[in-house]
Amino acid sequence: MFYIGIDLGGTTIKVGLVDENYTIVQTAVGPTLPERGAEAVLKDTADLCFEVLNKQGISVEDIDSIGIGSPGMAIPKEGIIKHANNLKFDNVDVRGILNKHIDLPVYVDNDANVAGLGEVICGAAKGKNSAIVVTLGTGVGGAIILDGKIFGGAFFGAGEIGHTTIRFGDGRQCSCGRTGCWEQYASANALISDAKEASEKFPHTKMIAIANGIENINAKIVFDAIEAGDETAQDVLNQYLKYVAHGVTNLINVLQPEIVVIGGGVSAQKEKLTDPIKTFVQEEMYGGLKLDTEITYATLGNDAGIIGAAFLAKYL
Ligand SMILES: [Zn+2]
Repeated sequence: MFYIGIDLGGTTIKVGLVDENYTIVQTAVGPTLPERGAEAVLKDTADLCFEVLNKQGISVEDIDSIGIGSPGMAIPKEGIIKHANNLKFDNVDVRGILNKHIDLPVYVDNDANVAGLGEVICGAAKGKNSAIVVTLGTGVGGAIILDGKIFGGAFFGAGEIGHTTIRFGDGRQCSCGRTGCWEQYASANALISDAKEASEKFPHTKMIAIANGIENINAKIVFDAIEAGDETAQDVLNQYLKYVAHGVTNLINVLQPEIVVIGGGVSAQKEKLTDPIKTFVQEEMYGGLKLDTEITYATLGNDAGIIGAAFLAKYL
């Protein structure tokens, strides 16, 4: 039996054929072009599904189900996308439209949620019953897995951990309308802007030379400069990881999961990222108690979304 996992993004539709060992065996990719409307986008999505079937030499009968990760909010069991800005989708019956072209059960969930599920199924949180997967990217995304299932909330919008605040009153402005949101301090974008700001203030920093100009500084440059012994970069990273740890501690205080997985491009830094976070979280633990929650980095990278989506039907 095979499973189809789809990453339905605002720019690209990625379809993956996944086998029972959680391996992506075939992929097909196409442009989303959301301005065409849902019918056209989902017709192309169905075509991409047939493309992976043809590549593998199998048919619809060999597929268990289709799972889709999409931006925004979805009703997983009904296969409906309630709202997705990037796709220009509002209350779209994804299952109904896809079923005009391909006759398979279809489930949909938020993209961060299915990526988190992927890490629980066969990645860093494999075998864990409760996990929070924190994605440090443009913003801070989150997936909350409780009792082995995605916790979507009563109205399908849970897990927006990036929009919990870590500073009240004079915090940084967030796109959500609040100020002081965690993602304004803990996203990869925040690390980059903090590093650029520090480079302007301390122009002797090696970050500028390594990046070949302040404007080229990215998250990896910060780690590279630290390797080269740069103190400004070290200060920037320490402050950043304290912000990350502050929010992680909040999550642990609320949910006390078995594991917190840190994902996003910056997770490629592995222990250089997670070791200081563990230290800072331990310092903030309730009443000085020992930190029991494991903190680690994501291992599936970009495959997490496809794999998690593919097996969504089994974890609803
Ligand atoms: Zn916010």
